[in-house]
Amino acid sequence: MALYPMNPTKLLILGGTTEASALARALEHDTRFAAVMSLAGATKNPATPPIPFRVGGFGGVQGLADHIVAEHIDLLIDATHPFADKMKHNAAEATRIAGVPMLAIRRPQWEPEPGDDWTAVPDMGAAADALGEKRKRVLLTIGQKELAPFKNYPQHAYVIRAVDAPDADSLPPDAEVITARGPFAEADERRLLSDRGIEAIVTKNSGGSATQAKLAAARALGIPVIMVARPAVPEVESVETADAALDWLERWLAAG
Ligand code: NAP
Repeated sequence: MALYPMNPTKLLILGGTTEASALARALEHDTRFAAVMSLAGATKNPATPPIPFRVGGFGGVQGLADHIVAEHIDLLIDATHPFADKMKHNAAEATRIAGVPMLAIRRPQWEPEPGDDWTAVPDMGAAADALGEKRKRVLLTIGQKELAPFKNYPQHAYVIRAVDAPDADSLPPDAEVITARGPFAEADERRLLSDRGIEAIVTKNSGGSATQAKLAAARALGIPVIMVARPAVPEVESVETADAALDWLERWLAAG
């Protein structure tokens, strides 16, 4: 039984982001494409994509290249999170091996505004170090997998907000866990920061609007932010938004 019209373009979307979800919604009823979403399986209850999807790693570069060939993928769109650097490198290399074009969605990073008190650091170890010796109440919005460096700084009281609860043994001794999924509103972020007496925030420079409100709330309340810089990612053709990716797809189809 044919699910799609003759020769739709087979599109593999590497997801896990708002951009990937927006792309999936836009392509759901577009019969020119047979789009499949790939999720890492990193979160316990991911939002179900409106298009066919698969879950789990491919088994490295060669596994992804083999998948592209076996599934007759015509195009790959890397819409993974800015900090999913391993997958970005894998995608660039696998599409090169398989001889398939790829486009990356690279959302702009956040930039400081007047009134911000940011300290830029290269990685999570440096972020933990930058908190200093004196005890502080710290909000960590870094996900649940990179808490290890903060165990080396047990003098601080941590509020950890993540989509899924971290493993108990990964937590620093004084830690409160809040499980929540964005988008977050600025008024709610202000309340969180005030109610918990937060004195510093550690975040990754993810960019995007869904989790940006904490930065405005920190600015308003004069709370310093330790901003972890993005990892290096491969140089590939890229756009900044899901809409721009859709325009790119139109041009790709028109070029035939
Ligand atoms: P990562 O370190 O770049 O990738 C680790 C491994 O997970 C990859 O080697 C790959 O396994 C698998 N993987 C990653 N993304 C995949 C996808 N979309 N489909 C299938 N397999 C995938 O990635 P991560 O930082 O753990 O992030 C995992 C997922 O969560 C990504 O899809 C990302 O978009 C999303 N996410 C990440 C963050 C973050 O801060 N890192 C935040 C929000 C959402 P194989 O090598 O076996 O193929």
